[in-house]
Amino acid sequence: PAKPIYAGQLPAGLQTISNIIAVSSCKGGVGKSTVAVNLAYTLADMGARVGIFDADVYGPSLPTMVSPEKRILEMNAEKRTIIPTEYMGVKLVSFGFAGQGRAIMRGPMVSGVINQLLTTTEWPTSTPPRTLYSQPLAPPHWGVCAPSLHMSKPSQSRFPQLVHHRGHSHLLPDNLIPNLIAPSVPTHPSQHPHLRKMHFLNMGELDYLVIDMPPGTGDIQLTLCQVVPLTAAVIVTTPQKLAFIDVAKGVRMFSKLKVPCVAVVENMCHFDADGKRYYPFGRGSGSQVVQQFGIPHLFDLPIQPALSASGDSGMPEVVADPQGEVSRTFQELGVCV
Ligand code: ADP
Repeated sequence: PAKPIYAGQLPAGLQTISNIIAVSSCKGGVGKSTVAVNLAYTLADMGARVGIFDADVYGPSLPTMVSPEKRILEMNAEKRTIIPTEYMGVKLVSFGFAGQGRAIMRGPMVSGVINQLLTTTEWPTSTPPRTLYSQPLAPPHWGVCAPSLHMSKPSQSRFPQLVHHRGHSHLLPDNLIPNLIAPSVPTHPSQHPHLRKMHFLNMGELDYLVIDMPPGTGDIQLTLCQVVPLTAAVIVTTPQKLAFIDVAKGVRMFSKLKVPCVAVVENMCHFDADGKRYYPFGRGSGSQVVQQFGIPHLFDLPIQPALSASGDSGMPEVVADPQGEVSRTFQELGVCV
């Protein structure tokens, strides 16, 4: 993917972050924050060092969805930087932790606040990286490294396996594993599309910053995308036709900014009751988006009371029920960002 555009020099606060993922929606209430928070905790569970930046200044949800001990951001007066708060190993910054309550602000002020929070935050982390990703492995490397890869303990789940190589650990999807167990078959990486999706982390202080974007595609969003060198975008939507039109706007905005949209999450797509599956908002919008815009991944999230309850309880669903259906969906999403 082409390099993202950002105005001027990259702000110091962002220089130490390896991957910045925007979770975006074109309307409020579709589950964007739910996806952002659960994605972040899934990445952390995979071993990455993760931060969440809640850029939804008008309606910050992060303070409800997680329950850090310190509910206020600290300042480093000397360096004039903001120290994120933390919950279960994930660094958190939200206007909701700034101690000022809900905002009544005009657009330019909102952009100013977002920029300040984002660019003056120090994202150091005391946790050493466990999972390292980096640039896609170049084809010549594959033949060289395959024989020396060795596996961590096999897992029962569909969750990718950790593979260690030369002091680095890599996450590999299951379909690669047979070749690694039989290293005498150093196949070409083109036969393994997932291999190209590996990124080494360990390049900065934070492996992933997940940005919960303000809903919509207006000036605030555009400014944010221009200041921040986004690695990828995930778009959250609901299945209605109307939502499709909005998603198209979002996809266009990111494509203008040369930010790849790696996945669409179609939230609240169905619910199960009395042994039957219901599609309250209809079907098919998500796959239409994927086909029309060539987005590589589509994920369905059903309406689940547990997801809503965990959102209100301050413990993300993927933390509360790591083996559940929701967690498995997020693990797949985690691999593709
Ligand atoms: P947004 O960030 O788009 O405004 P939220 O993530 O805050 O949306 O979600 C809005 C509300 O819907 C929250 O109360 C959340 O818990 C709930 N919710 C989101 N997704 C689901 C789902 N799949 N099943 C049940 N409730 C959900």
